[in-house]
Amino acid sequence: MELSDRQEQIIEIVKPNGPITGEKIAEKLGLTRATLRPDLAILTMAGILEARPRVGYFFTGKTGSELLTENIKKLKVQDYQQVPIAIREDDSVYDAITTMFLEDVGTLFVVDEQSCLTGVLSRKDLLRASLGQQHLSGIPAHIIMTRMPNITVCRKDDALIEAAQKLINNQIDGLPVVKETEAGLEVIGRVTKTSMTKALVELTLDDKRFD
Ligand code: ADP
Repeated sequence: MELSDRQEQIIEIVKPNGPITGEKIAEKLGLTRATLRPDLAILTMAGILEARPRVGYFFTGKTGSELLTENIKKLKVQDYQQVPIAIREDDSVYDAITTMFLEDVGTLFVVDEQSCLTGVLSRKDLLRASLGQQHLSGIPAHIIMTRMPNITVCRKDDALIEAAQKLINNQIDGLPVVKETEAGLEVIGRVTKTSMTKALVELTLDDKRFD
């Protein structure tokens, strides 16, 4: 994050003098408290300064990478999840391939009548099935899918970074976002490697806001 000259000056004042009130910082800079308000807000939001009510501002001493880690840990699955694309167990492998193309996704979830998760189909699962000589319209999805309980899932309140770790540890491209119901795990979303790429790009865009 690039700081303005004034923001750097504020930090240099707060470092040795904190906790110090906004009023006092303004006085030292020969400015009004109102002029400083946006800069103090930015420095507090970025985690560089901390504001204690009725005490003042102090320097947190956190390094750039500590601040970045904190921001990454705040990201939630629900803010990056996409619409899940699901098929039924009895749908054919041919239909699964068509759905994958039409919906432009790399992972399909297989669900029962209650929208509860029973399996997962990846691109390679479908390629593998296509290598056989059988008629793809005659093979139901449940024959080739990875099935419960061997499916790695996440919940909407989970930290996005935990979901990313599951993708890496299990060498998979996507996770179903599920919600517990009496009938089983209802599929309410999906997070994929693309969600992680989006989050990475957004973090740098956020940073630009402070330039
Ligand atoms: P691809 O095989 O097309 O590269 P993946 O790496 O996502 O895609 O899938 C690898 C294998 O893991 C496939 O057999 C797939 O069925 C299975 N798989 C995909 N997602 C999950 C998941 N969330 N939980 C368990 N297994 C999964």
